[in-house]
Amino acid sequence: MPLDSTELNFLIVGACCLFVLGIALSFLSRSQSGGSDELVKQVEKELPGAQCAQCGFPGCHAYAEALVNGKAACDKCTPGGIDTAAKLASLLGVTLSSHEQDDAIFLPRTVAVIHESTCTGCTKCAKHCPVDAISGAPRQAHQVDEQYCIGCNDCVKRCPVNCIELIRLEPTVANFNWDLNSIRFQRN
Ligand code: SF4
Ligand code: SF4
Ligand code: SF4
Repeated sequence: MPLDSTELNFLIVGACCLFVLGIALSFLSRSQSGGSDELVKQVEKELPGAQCAQCGFPGCHAYAEALVNGKAACDKCTPGGIDTAAKLASLLGVTLSSHEQDDAIFLPRTVAVIHESTCTGCTKCAKHCPVDAISGAPRQAHQVDEQYCIGCNDCVKRCPVNCIELIRLEPTVANFNWDLNSIRFQRN
């Protein structure tokens, strides 16, 4: 049945309204994601860039995204310590709890350890370590130099016999994450 002119006008006006609404919604969603992308960039700039994964995310960008999306706390970047945690909190408009401040200062480093008795010496881990922290000859047990290891987890993923694990270093005077700026001296 052919449409009369009133029905035709109604259809045209409805289609125009839907079109305008669609454009407005897409503009709104683009401007919102643009804003959060910008914030992710700013947050990432404050991170050390070590890509070591000690925050529990596979790199600084992933941690920055989680922070902006409210899925991570500001105190998870061990290399950044308390200064970075404070900058992140300020950027995101949140307050660091005293518990978070303690964690950011005192969390010991994570490093890889190779269980030599099961290592086959395939060399896969050493080839992929981004900081050359693994040594060992082919078909010989390999070792990690914890001084250089940044705990990125790459070697753990590459080892075909699962003989590498990440451990938290026991804090010692040598590896303690000293943050001298946070120590307050009292004059007598
Ligand atoms: S812990 Fe490592 S990967 Fe995570 S934000 Fe800090 S430097 Fe980047
Ligand atoms: S030894 Fe393993 S965890 Fe440590 S930096 Fe190298 S690849 Fe990463
Ligand atoms: S990848 Fe695993 S088995 Fe191969 S050398 Fe490294 S620790 Fe040993």
